[in-house]
Amino acid sequence: MDQPTALVALSDKDLEITRATKRLDELPEKHAILELRHKLREVEGLAEKAAQYVGGLEAAIRRAEDEAAMISAKIVAEQAKVDSGAIDNHKELQGLSREIDSLSRQKDKKENEVLAVMEKLEAGKAQAEKIAETIAKGRVKEQQLIARFQEVGSELQRDIDRMQRERISLAGALDPALLARYEALRASKHGLAVGVLQGSMCGACRIDLPAGRIQALNEGDPIGECPSCHRLLVVLHREHS
Ligand SMILES: [Zn+2]
Repeated sequence: MDQPTALVALSDKDLEITRATKRLDELPEKHAILELRHKLREVEGLAEKAAQYVGGLEAAIRRAEDEAAMISAKIVAEQAKVDSGAIDNHKELQGLSREIDSLSRQKDKKENEVLAVMEKLEAGKAQAEKIAETIAKGRVKEQQLIARFQEVGSELQRDIDRMQRERISLAGALDPALLARYEALRASKHGLAVGVLQGSMCGACRIDLPAGRIQALNEGDPIGECPSCHRLLVVLHREHS
């Protein structure tokens, strides 16, 4: 393979690799995975809030139950005093009776409080469960998307790997100084370092070249430089006059 042919083949190969890499990067599955993960993060935020809400209600129930138990203990103690017969003072007994009534009302109130919070807790738990289901479904969907992405992606990746190997052998066929110039231009010219002379036009920037330049290229070194875009300009098929 002569230098102009190898140079153009290398340039074509690099463009192909760039396109395939871009395709791999822009696979719709990849986009879908990222979007799904974003949504899942939001739902996980909701799950955390729901768990905090449920935890708060459970703590409130424990507190109210403890308070009700303490009131019950007090009632039992006061009732024991009444039942013991040790108090014969009528007023004192009346006072104790009123105290027991008051404590009973407090206990009822606490127990109603517990029931009310339990209702909220049920609703909160149902909501948390729904959120957990949404997350579980999302995770399954994510795994499916990842599997699909890996399937399509690995095919593309295999192509890219093959092209990379082909690229290495093409680069090896080039004169090292020319290869270095090619690489530098590729870096500075957005990946396109070579234009093929098409008639009187540079194939890269599509500007018409002065007749003198064309003649020089056709008669001299088949690898020159485009006077307009300064890329390597290659004459593939010599025009014989
Ligand atoms: Zn050009």
